[in-house]
Amino acid sequence: MNHTDKTPFLDLVTPHQELKDELSAVFSRALDTAGFIGGPMVEEFERGFAAYCTTQHCVGVGSGTDALRFALIAAGIGPGAIVLTVPNTFIATTEAISQAGARPEFIDIDERTYNLDPSKLAEYLDTDCMVDDQCGEVIHRKLGMPVKAVVPVHLYGQPADMDPILELAERYRLLVIEDACQAHGAEYFSRKSNCWKKAGSMGRAAAFSFYPGKNLGACGEAGAVTTNDGVLAQKIRMLRDHGQAKKYFHDVEGYNGRLDAIQAGILTVKLQHLPEWTECRREAAARYRELFVEAGAGELAPYEPEWAKAVYHLYVVRVPDREGLMRQLAEAGIGTGIHYPVPLHLQKAYSDLGHPKGSLPITERVASEILSLPMFPRLRAEQQSRIVQRVLESVAFPTV
Ligand SMILES: *Cc1c(COP(=O)(O)O)cnc(C)c1O
Repeated sequence: MNHTDKTPFLDLVTPHQELKDELSAVFSRALDTAGFIGGPMVEEFERGFAAYCTTQHCVGVGSGTDALRFALIAAGIGPGAIVLTVPNTFIATTEAISQAGARPEFIDIDERTYNLDPSKLAEYLDTDCMVDDQCGEVIHRKLGMPVKAVVPVHLYGQPADMDPILELAERYRLLVIEDACQAHGAEYFSRKSNCWKKAGSMGRAAAFSFYPGKNLGACGEAGAVTTNDGVLAQKIRMLRDHGQAKKYFHDVEGYNGRLDAIQAGILTVKLQHLPEWTECRREAAARYRELFVEAGAGELAPYEPEWAKAVYHLYVVRVPDREGLMRQLAEAGIGTGIHYPVPLHLQKAYSDLGHPKGSLPITERVASEILSLPMFPRLRAEQQSRIVQRVLESVAFPTV
């Protein structure tokens, strides 16, 4: 194998080399002022990211997990409540639900978009639950607990089908918190409002992660909540800072969940480049599609509905012999990933929730066949040609 032919799954080095001077200046600025936590750099980023997401408020926090947890808690989710989400996501989604005191319950995904299937959400609410005549709450028949919220995940950078989700949420009075941790800048065409909407602007609030590998990544841990609800934003500002209304006056018990000034400064620099990076990801996705179509294997390209403008955090293909393909690509020096190999309801951590194998069949089937190919803004056309060639070879000549 020619060493120069190697393609990593993700290239985190190049973007930081490209911006080294601008990023280093952020460190100098923080060292000169010793303003390491909160302060003007955090406020500047919050204004910039709220504008980018077309929301009125953005609250910087310590991570995407903090963002989800604080949004749920601030919106009143706590012990005794059921919160619905998908089993095909990163565990942070359900950790936040459990850590808010609620019980996560799972709705299966759509086989083509890999996101929450609104018809399955409707089925769950209509048949597994009943509406209490007195309080108007939706109660799960078997568990006897109220369903209070739904957390749709815009997985892989593709928005979930929000119109029917929001409609059901309105009918059943559910709170909607978007998990937009993989979807910075993704857009959804709302047929109801007849306009495109940004991920993170459609629910009561949304959580973003700026983990280094995300489309907008810090040089460390960071996250944010976006919302148009000023009261909710204020509560989250308190929760992230030990429940303080002002220094040493604690209205509630909170958390240590603030955003570092250095990370905020880095994110402000990178936010200026995000539209260009997103464009590059979309071009790379279009190129992958073209290569698959030219080879008569167009079905390998991920499905992007006409109502979605995905930002391709991940580029996921689905093949019967996933392990074989992964091995063959690794031998060719091509990095891949699996997002995610074990559905959440089958994780050991959730064995006490009592969801047997077979209970969420689409997610289970998909989990054994999905593979994430290299995807990053500086992925080159010739690298993609080679990757696609190898994929086609492996699919045509499986090793098992
Ligand atoms: C990354 C991620 C999170 C958690 O974000 P952290 O910043 O790592 O806490 C939550 N949900 C999804 C879908 C993610 O991809």
